[in-house]
Amino acid sequence: MTVKLPELPYAKDALEPVISEKTIDFHYGKHHQAYVNNLNKLLPGSDFESADLETIIKKGRGGIFNNGAQIWNHTFYFESFSSDPKNTPEGKLMAIIERDFGSFDQFKGAFEKAATTLFGSGWAWLVLDENEKLSIVQASNADNPMRNGLKPLLTADVWEHAYYIDYKNRRPEYLGNLWKIVDWSVIEGRL
Ligand code: MN
Repeated sequence: MTVKLPELPYAKDALEPVISEKTIDFHYGKHHQAYVNNLNKLLPGSDFESADLETIIKKGRGGIFNNGAQIWNHTFYFESFSSDPKNTPEGKLMAIIERDFGSFDQFKGAFEKAATTLFGSGWAWLVLDENEKLSIVQASNADNPMRNGLKPLLTADVWEHAYYIDYKNRRPEYLGNLWKIVDWSVIEGRL
């Protein structure tokens, strides 16, 4: 199996000014591409030679896990955004956000807090459990909540490479601005 870098669903400058074309050039063009290149070097002759990325996330270890999970995580992250996003969820998703967090604003605050306080590199995730309850989880490095049987709906990349070109050390400002480009029609489709 050869893994390919997925196409972005928008132009590289489509998310400006929230995420600059320069950040996309590095984050997608260099970092995401490097995870793809690394995994393609590691797969031949391994137990995961013909496995899909979800299997690698659930069962992989070491470099195969790290690179496979980072490919999946980045694709999931980049596909959450649009230059013309639906800014608020509706229907079932809004109903369970209000049920589990109190309000959409309270959810956004809790998600930003989880992403801001994550120490080091990693991801904040909105996930659904087997009882259809939502929660927010922090994950370090390449970790992905599918390893714990949770279904991801939304993620924020808080590795410094995700925001340092545009925001320097201002991680909370990056996170607050992300809501301007999250397309809730995409997130509803994942539910
Ligand atoms: Mn990243």
